[in-house]
Amino acid sequence: MKKNEFIKILVNNGIEKNEARAEIELILEFVLNKTKEDLIFIEDFNPDIIMPVIKKRIETKKPLQYILGFAPFMGEKFIVNENVLIPRDDTEILVQEGIKCKGSTVLDIGTGSGIISCMVAKLSNKEVLGIDISDEAIKISQQNANKLGLENIEFMKSDIFNNLKGKKFDIIISNPPYIPIKLKESIQKEVRFEPDLALYTNDDKGLHFYKKIIKEAPNFLNEEGTILFEVMKEQAPLVKEILIENGFSNIEIIKDVQGIQRVIKAKKGA
Ligand code: GLN
Repeated sequence: MKKNEFIKILVNNGIEKNEARAEIELILEFVLNKTKEDLIFIEDFNPDIIMPVIKKRIETKKPLQYILGFAPFMGEKFIVNENVLIPRDDTEILVQEGIKCKGSTVLDIGTGSGIISCMVAKLSNKEVLGIDISDEAIKISQQNANKLGLENIEFMKSDIFNNLKGKKFDIIISNPPYIPIKLKESIQKEVRFEPDLALYTNDDKGLHFYKKIIKEAPNFLNEEGTILFEVMKEQAPLVKEILIENGFSNIEIIKDVQGIQRVIKAKKGA
């Protein structure tokens, strides 16, 4: 069967055209273990291997990445399951800003599948500690670090700073849950398969975890250490205020490739 025929099946089942194309490309890449470049030269695909995945996608409506057990992020293939969020391309900018920060030790709060920890560890020689409240997430993130052969990385269970007494870092990085729970019903069906723990906050503006982390962060940051977060654009000015109230300075809001405010970064101290 041709690539376009597979795409058509998804489109006929209600998946938007561009999304369908991206999903079929991911299926072909991951199921056939080929690169995007390899696929350019293949015209005909054996439906016996591809169709069961497409069927499962249509029948279960689960995000494709959970069906495949893998998701791409920054050119790597990460193991994922329903205990962790599926990597978003949006998060690449947070990783890139993290790498640029001065310092050699990094704490990643709410590491999930470990994409931020792993990519910072891979693309810099910083020492990274990834923490998560979820045992399942820690398992997955460790598997991802092993798969990438990273040695400058460790994972550990901790509810934010609870198990980190006495430790200090040069950089604290986090993509915390930041979607107000009241928006849960209005967001697309696929997202509803992702763990609530990784996505939602109980407050109105999605600021709960920013507040909690920022309040305690000075005790876990070295002098002139940096803190940086992924945010939704409406949250950027509000998180900025919380940072100022807690003694942070040099606050920068960084836009992603689409020009949307996506990362906020600040220094400990005046
Ligand atoms: N950006 C994600 C989404 O919109 C949310 C990630 C998060 O809550 N940290 O689905």
